[in-house]
Amino acid sequence: MSEIILQQTRVNQGLPYYLNFLKNYPNLNSLAGASENEVLRLWQGLGYYSRARNLLKCAKVIKNDLGGKFPDSYNSLLTLPGIGPYTAAAIASFSFDKSVATVDGNVVRVFSRLFAISEDVRSASTMNKIRTLANEMIPKSDPGTFNQAIMELGAMVCVPRNPTCSLCPLQNSCIAKKEEIVGVIPYKSKVKNPRDRFFNYLIFRNGDKVALARRNKSDIWYGLYEFFLDEADKLKEPHELNGPYFPKMEQNGAVAEVIQEYCLHKLSHQRIHARFFEIYIENGLRAFEINEGENWDMQFYSEQEILALPKPVLIDNFLKIYFNSI
Ligand code: SF4
Repeated sequence: MSEIILQQTRVNQGLPYYLNFLKNYPNLNSLAGASENEVLRLWQGLGYYSRARNLLKCAKVIKNDLGGKFPDSYNSLLTLPGIGPYTAAAIASFSFDKSVATVDGNVVRVFSRLFAISEDVRSASTMNKIRTLANEMIPKSDPGTFNQAIMELGAMVCVPRNPTCSLCPLQNSCIAKKEEIVGVIPYKSKVKNPRDRFFNYLIFRNGDKVALARRNKSDIWYGLYEFFLDEADKLKEPHELNGPYFPKMEQNGAVAEVIQEYCLHKLSHQRIHARFFEIYIENGLRAFEINEGENWDMQFYSEQEILALPKPVLIDNFLKIYFNSI
């Protein structure tokens, strides 16, 4: 659980989630019996939601296909959903005493400096080189402590800027230190600029209920709930909104009104620009002459019901303000 949570998250951010997950799912069987909505709701705010879905899938596979026995070898762990080389090595060495090196960002920094590896650490071949070196050095006895020691050395001493080489136990064998090239290693090529996306959200409101749908495309926030989305190449004005429902909406006198002008939500590779429109429909979906659930996968929820649904942080933050204002 901790290794999955910490895949793209710092310890201080992940710790409360870890404790909450353990409280709700104290063992594999209880997690395997959970619904995806429950797991995503507990994960809400941690991002990279595929980790949560894979965590659940993984628990189900172990319970249903492997007779409840957790695999204990690196290669068998790699076959589980959501478990890649780092996580498989961490579980194998910490829990089952297997000599497999964990190679995370800290370990990459230590090894690339120790052996003065100047190639791009974003490339697979450089990573393979570092993984091979780390696996050659890991001892047969107590490999978990070795792995944690190297990661801790990278986190505390061999830090990205101004490492404290004078305190480092590896200083006499460190080639980058000897060659005075510590400052330029590891080399990381630049990542592409984040992609801008424009989300025009339509809040269909009926009394004190609002309509939400579950995202089901392979995209960010898969499985989370949001308002009707009109994604476009810009933030729109009310008269520019698109969708099969709007002609009927206009006939029925419903008016779209901008209620939050603009909101920027930053993800690691995307910037989400959002604008929220409220459309009040007194007669519920009948105002649109469509039936709930028919060509329309939205449903109306009360504030209390929405609390239990998993939502992107952007929507959750918006709803907190919105429900206070209605
Ligand atoms: Fe890192 Fe300095 Fe230690 Fe080399 S000597 S491993 S650069 S802290």
